[in-house]
Amino acid sequence: MTSPPASNADQAELLDLSVQDLCAWTTRLAGLESASDADTIECIRALEEMKSAAAAAQARMSAVFDVSQRRLQAEHGMPEGYRGKGVGAQLALARRESPSRGARFLKLSTTLVHEMPHSLAAMSAGRISEWRATLLARETECLSKEHRAAVDQELAADAETLSGLSDRRLIGLARRAANRLEPASMAARAVKAANERSVTCRPAPDSMCYLTALVPVAQGVAALAALSRVADGANTGGEERGRGQIMADTLVERITGQETASAVPVQVQLVMTDRTLLAGDSEPAMLPGYGVVSGETARGLTRAAPGDGKTWIRRLYTAPGDGALVAMDSSARAFPAGMARFISTRDQLCSTPWCDAPIRHVDHIVPKAAGGPTSDMNGRGQCAACNYAKEAPGWRVSPDERAGPDGRAAQLRRVLAQPHGTTTTTPTGHTYVHTTLPPPGAPGPRAG
Ligand SMILES: [Zn+2]
Repeated sequence: MTSPPASNADQAELLDLSVQDLCAWTTRLAGLESASDADTIECIRALEEMKSAAAAAQARMSAVFDVSQRRLQAEHGMPEGYRGKGVGAQLALARRESPSRGARFLKLSTTLVHEMPHSLAAMSAGRISEWRATLLARETECLSKEHRAAVDQELAADAETLSGLSDRRLIGLARRAANRLEPASMAARAVKAANERSVTCRPAPDSMCYLTALVPVAQGVAALAALSRVADGANTGGEERGRGQIMADTLVERITGQETASAVPVQVQLVMTDRTLLAGDSEPAMLPGYGVVSGETARGLTRAAPGDGKTWIRRLYTAPGDGALVAMDSSARAFPAGMARFISTRDQLCSTPWCDAPIRHVDHIVPKAAGGPTSDMNGRGQCAACNYAKEAPGWRVSPDERAGPDGRAAQLRRVLAQPHGTTTTTPTGHTYVHTTLPPPGAPGPRAG
């Protein structure tokens, strides 16, 4: 996935441990064996401490990388307020995680290095994990630097203080210390937290999903109490559904305004082959906003939609054999709404490697200025953060370059034949290839 450029070799030699040493350790760990059960426990403890120490090393290096990248961006003439763009995204690619997680790790790293030295030392010594350090940083976020340093000293300087504490007890201890030092900031934090309220949806097994609302505690408790009351009332009338089922149905009915939860009331886009729809084929379908659903579930959704004009399902067929959706083309510079929706439906999620965020922008793989057409084949979906990160100097996105560098015409031919393969090049010269999960009916995912 990653090809370290030669220019980094010099830097690696400056470290006490070279990248090659680290890779050798990884290989040695694969063959690790213990002599006895007691030895196994010792090994597991040592490995756990190594994980924490490795995360601490990543944090220290990330903080240095942040300073260095900001300096480079300044040299490129980037205004001060914009500097730091894309730094977390580069860490995310290196850590093989989503850009939002990368940004969170960068924030944790700079906090530990610049404001919480005792927590960082505890992590380096293997006494607290990355997660524990994250909790300590999170619970002290609203404090002044001085007070944060005081909590860091109080909780993390002595190895015994955090020993044996569960996550909840650790959070409680940190909150108590923070409240004692800065009660007004903690109250202001609660007000600020209310601004983070949101609703999200993530897949659960068996064609189910978790619909999660993050709301102020009073509203959440009130909403649950309202659903409980409906369930209490319904049970007296010989209701066959269980309490949880009634509450879930009521939630869906009240949010969507439909009479019964089982009728699909809003636009649901399904990407499926005609064989799945008409011939009872077992090829799974894609439900945007959710992911893969079984062919039977997809057929069930199409049957559940009444044809009253208000309720409908948009079906996007994939061609048998290659899985390509119906081709669309436009002479416009920007992607027209219909085509952008088509591309979003096809790509499902942001096209950045390891990014799971929903698509907010559709852009050209081969830029319009370089002769790239405004077509579904040359379009790809991106989340807002990734679209923003790649505007920093040194980022480049191009069609999958694994076939070797060649002229623009050949590049264009390739991207039109293989619409979803892209290569992202970061400011350090590392490259990451990404291939979108193919739609239903396609032969299978290409290696990425
Ligand atoms: Zn993204």
